[in-house]
Amino acid sequence: MKLSTEQVDRLRGVLERPGQRVVIVSHTNPDGDAVGSSLAWAEVLRGMGHSVVCAVPNKYPYFLDWMPGIDEVVIFKNDTEGRAARAVAEADMIFCLDFNSLSRLEILSDTIAANTTALRVLIDHHLSPDEGFDLAFSYPGASSTCYIVYRLIEALFGAEAITLPMAEVLYVGMMTDTGNFAFSSLTPGLFRAVAVLVERGIHVPTLYNNVYNAYTEGRARLFGYAINRKMQLIEDGTVAYMSLMENEMRRFRFQQGDSEGFVNYALTIKKMKMSAMFLAHRKFIRVSLRSRGDVDVNLFARRYFDGGGHKNAAGGKSFVSMEETIAHYIRSVREFAEEGYLGDAKSEK
Ligand code: 5GP
Ligand code: MN
Repeated sequence: MKLSTEQVDRLRGVLERPGQRVVIVSHTNPDGDAVGSSLAWAEVLRGMGHSVVCAVPNKYPYFLDWMPGIDEVVIFKNDTEGRAARAVAEADMIFCLDFNSLSRLEILSDTIAANTTALRVLIDHHLSPDEGFDLAFSYPGASSTCYIVYRLIEALFGAEAITLPMAEVLYVGMMTDTGNFAFSSLTPGLFRAVAVLVERGIHVPTLYNNVYNAYTEGRARLFGYAINRKMQLIEDGTVAYMSLMENEMRRFRFQQGDSEGFVNYALTIKKMKMSAMFLAHRKFIRVSLRSRGDVDVNLFARRYFDGGGHKNAAGGKSFVSMEETIAHYIRSVREFAEEGYLGDAKSEK
């Protein structure tokens, strides 16, 4: 990943305007990368004297509650005082972090679209970003938005500008988006960045525990139930799916974020190529997709579930029943396999 000097200079130019009113927004169902990158970037901009409001469409998962500064993030869905709407209406600059399309803001997207005068800056690592940003730091090769934010801070002010709270939240995004440094896009540059965060004083085991060993008992039991009772294999055991209905989630006192990681688990099976999770919501079914190697679930999500994401981790939505969603998935996987997108295992059929 190489930052464009010209773009960094343009960013420096706009940030030199004194006393800007800034809004930082991130995607629906914000994860460690969304929140971590927002908090770190907010700190940087506050340090320059700008006033900053961070907003997300809905609540982040409870295992991120400990993150320094997270209490100030406005949750649009619960924002009865209209703080986010006011901040957006008055904003001189809007930073869009960790998403590629305004539609990913869901209930917050109209509010953002309504401010047509603010300068819009994208900082993101998803494929196929929307056009229309005044400045776009779009690096689909980057493993996380936190890594891009790290590199921007380094380019603008030098890595010395990174404080311990910034280092902690940046580490969270780098860790969660790479599955604790196990997925693709792991570069020497990323590990150099991590080395700097460690120098800054972050305690890696604590950060790991705060995020990955902080679940409820219900979540642990739901996980067992989901793997044992709900995981189904198709295509000769090379493709998996799992579904959870609202009544099943209630049984285990489901809280948002509790199903995080379930979809990855099928990929611990050696010959697994692709895995899906269907999570029932009141109005639709949220689809999560994961894959290994060359199997492109970003393409699959775009084609069959009106979604997108990354090559090995993507998502989308379904507006039909669970039964129909699963039938559509099975048919779509078959078509995908027949077109050769699942590799050669099924090509003889
Ligand atoms: P997750 O399964 O963790 O919710 O999402 C995995 C990846 O897919 C994330 O990078 C996320 O941004 C992307 N993603 C999830 N849902 C959607 C969606 O509805 N539309 C698009 N375009 N991307 C999504
Ligand atoms: Mn991300």
